Amino acid sequence: MNNKITCRKLTKVFKGDGIETYAIKEVNLSFQEQDFISIIGPSGSGKSTLLSIIGTLDIPSSGEILYGDQQIHKMNNKEMADFRFDNIGFIFQQFNLIPTMTALENVMSPLFGRKVSYNKKERAIQVLEQVGLKEKMNFLPSQLSGGQQQRVAIARALVHQPKWLLADEPTGNLDTETGEMVYELLASLNKSKQCGVILVTHDPNLADRANTKLEMRDGEIVSVSQRQLV
Ligand code: ADP
Ligand code: MG
Repeated sequence: MNNKITCRKLTKVFKGDGIETYAIKEVNLSFQEQDFISIIGPSGSGKSTLLSIIGTLDIPSSGEILYGDQQIHKMNNKEMADFRFDNIGFIFQQFNLIPTMTALENVMSPLFGRKVSYNKKERAIQVLEQVGLKEKMNFLPSQLSGGQQQRVAIARALVHQPKWLLADEPTGNLDTETGEMVYELLASLNKSKQCGVILVTHDPNLADRANTKLEMRDGEIVSVSQRQLV
């Protein structure tokens, strides 16, 4: 399957107390598979809404979203959950690890109740090794630093080898140096062609290093720039 992402006239409107908020407005875009894309813009500009919809965690009010020729907006909940499991890994600012589970159990958690063709525990250890945390696999999140917790969350996102990693301000809760390590990890996963990355960030220095940078204002994409390769 071709994993190019295409969005056509994607709109999300939130209604409450008689007020309509257009979180995103008629967004058109297309991402080549294995691209590294950053999305930057002020708070409230629609970055998280756009990423959630691209990641099938939320549905648009109108518009279309396609992965290759698969029409995500026409899928039912079950089809969407299966599609997400097979294709998308999500990483959040707050890590969202389960506090009572070890690093290893957290990484295995997306696989619970799923039939897969590989050994779940072996795979989880393999991705923990990839993020440099194999020796911490039996630690609880509370026994890990913020940067280590985010690397566990990245291992969890990688466990089923997604085509795309979607990260919403993954360095937002980390100091600059730790954030840099997390960014470098995402960049190296992308470079090794393991997956495409869409990174939402507040940090212009990180955003500028992506291959493609989108800027959002008031629910719209106001600029798209490609980094010049030297
Ligand atoms: P960003 O991630 O760029 O800070 P968001 O996508 O979170 O922006 O929000 C875009 C706009 O949509 C904001 O005005 C926000 O208040 C509104 N919004 C987001 N989620 C909801 C929601 N669940 N209900 C109502 N309004 C929302
Ligand atoms: Mg946000």
